[in-house]
Amino acid sequence: MASFFAEDVTDYLSDDFIKYASGLVDAEDKKIKAEVEQRINRARHLYEGLTDSEKANRRRAFFLPPAGSQLTASRYTCRACGEPAVMLGEAIRAGRVILDDDAVIRNYRVVAQEFDCTVCLLALHGAVEIGSAGMDQSWVIEEQETLEDRYTGYDDEPDYGND
Ligand SMILES: [Zn+2]
Repeated sequence: MASFFAEDVTDYLSDDFIKYASGLVDAEDKKIKAEVEQRINRARHLYEGLTDSEKANRRRAFFLPPAGSQLTASRYTCRACGEPAVMLGEAIRAGRVILDDDAVIRNYRVVAQEFDCTVCLLALHGAVEIGSAGMDQSWVIEEQETLEDRYTGYDDEPDYGND
């Protein structure tokens, strides 16, 4: 999909592009918004009923993407209870790679797919629900690979040399 679109990083990461590419809508759908608000209130109510040790146990059950998942996990503060939780998103690779002095920097736009809080059990599916909860529907992450990493990586390669 990436090669289908313009390679200019500015276009690629603009909000308009993201809305177009992923079918996002603003949180204008009142029905979804009301439903999500209700879910947040229920989660908050549940959270208020937890003891400190129950909260501590639930924090330990930190949600992770299933093995082999292509989704990127980012830390995100839960809108309902304020605990650190995990937002899963789909990374769309940016069109441009920046070469710094001794590093290769790649920017990715991540589109929100799934939010799960293991403490208050708030779960939101898809960017529309996540946006309706007042949380980010997309964000940019930066990945850096230093040239040292790269050369170290080469050292680990098996030797296909001349035999
Ligand atoms: Zn929560």
